[in-house]
Amino acid sequence: MKTLFLLCSNLLYIILAHATVNVQTNPDGTHATAVLVNGSTTLKYDIVFVGDGFTSSTADQDKFNNAVLAALDALRHKAPYSTNICAFNVWRVNVISAESGIDHPITGVSKNTELNCTFGDDVGTPERVIYSTTPDRVTEAANYAPAFDAIYVLVNDAQYGGAAGSIVYTSLNSSMQEVIVHELGHFVGHLADEYNCYFCNGGAEPPYSGPEPGSVNLTINLNPATLKWKNFVASTTPLPTTVDTPPGVVGAWAGGGYSPTGIYRPQNNCLMKALNSELCVVCSHALNGILQPNCTACERDPSSLACAISKLRKRVFVYKPKIFRIPECCFCPLLTDLRQQVEIVLSVDNKKFQIQVLTAEGKKIQTTVRDTDQGTMISFEENIKQAYLLQITPNTALKEAVPVDISINRNGQAVPL
Ligand SMILES: [Zn+2]
Repeated sequence: MKTLFLLCSNLLYIILAHATVNVQTNPDGTHATAVLVNGSTTLKYDIVFVGDGFTSSTADQDKFNNAVLAALDALRHKAPYSTNICAFNVWRVNVISAESGIDHPITGVSKNTELNCTFGDDVGTPERVIYSTTPDRVTEAANYAPAFDAIYVLVNDAQYGGAAGSIVYTSLNSSMQEVIVHELGHFVGHLADEYNCYFCNGGAEPPYSGPEPGSVNLTINLNPATLKWKNFVASTTPLPTTVDTPPGVVGAWAGGGYSPTGIYRPQNNCLMKALNSELCVVCSHALNGILQPNCTACERDPSSLACAISKLRKRVFVYKPKIFRIPECCFCPLLTDLRQQVEIVLSVDNKKFQIQVLTAEGKKIQTTVRDTDQGTMISFEENIKQAYLLQITPNTALKEAVPVDISINRNGQAVPL
């Protein structure tokens, strides 16, 4: 009976083995490798990378592993992903294919790969579009990771190509890093493409004729009072906007959503329009709003005042001179001429403490200090492109630490600490 059970389970194992995707097993028996883990999969945005057309050779698997590291590097160098890296977990599943490379039906190249990826189909899908003919196998491979919010398939081929639907595909070419951050804009921020052609083959593209787009970075509405991103637009900027002086003018630029006219985007340049660009202020703002809740204040900046206060319930203890970073305005419009009035109230007597605001370089900022019912209020005009520090120094040596309650207002609104 026991033998029969063993036979049956072996048979079952053989059947399952044939049905499953061939992936590398780690020494500890797992099939996924943590590349970046910042926290629980329920709190973080999980990206899993799987490869196609990588054989079991060390050279091929190393190539895949390095490509995943390059992808992570792209996140680390593109704002606002770079300032919200704590929002992400990154996993990789090393899929093993029988042959290197993937199919090119147009040139008759056929490879036996585990996820069956191909450059187009030589029928209706153009060659630049990479996709798997068996997406279920891609999902199956991704399921080895503890969780995923986005699946990226890296194919072992240097020819330019990619695609994004429910799965993102990209080849190992020089644009890979930019493609990855662009596609993540769709996945995380639900951002629309801002380029103005679909086939982009030089043919005439029709004007946009649909309804108001649902995404935050496209609109058909040019009314300055109700424009989707009106908070980012200076009152002097004409709509539609055609002059980019100085560069970076936020307005309503014609073109986007695969149409050249009848639809508008916030800035002339954006990563959602063209690779090798930064994300425009509207796209950045949307991504920030979605990613920031995935990080705690201490994860974002352990030396920040926000972190210190979150630990100490808005109370810090001052014994020796203490310096903190003032939480930056993550939701402020990023206009160069826009300044924010910041007021910080500390429950101390300003005759007993010297309170100063410094730039990140340690330069003193001009401030106004006055007494209020809650204590000392220090106010200053903040340029939101700069980081500021708050320094509290006791005027005389203290025998024990003094508790100081702190609250911060920016343009009259309480800053959540
Ligand atoms: Zn944009």
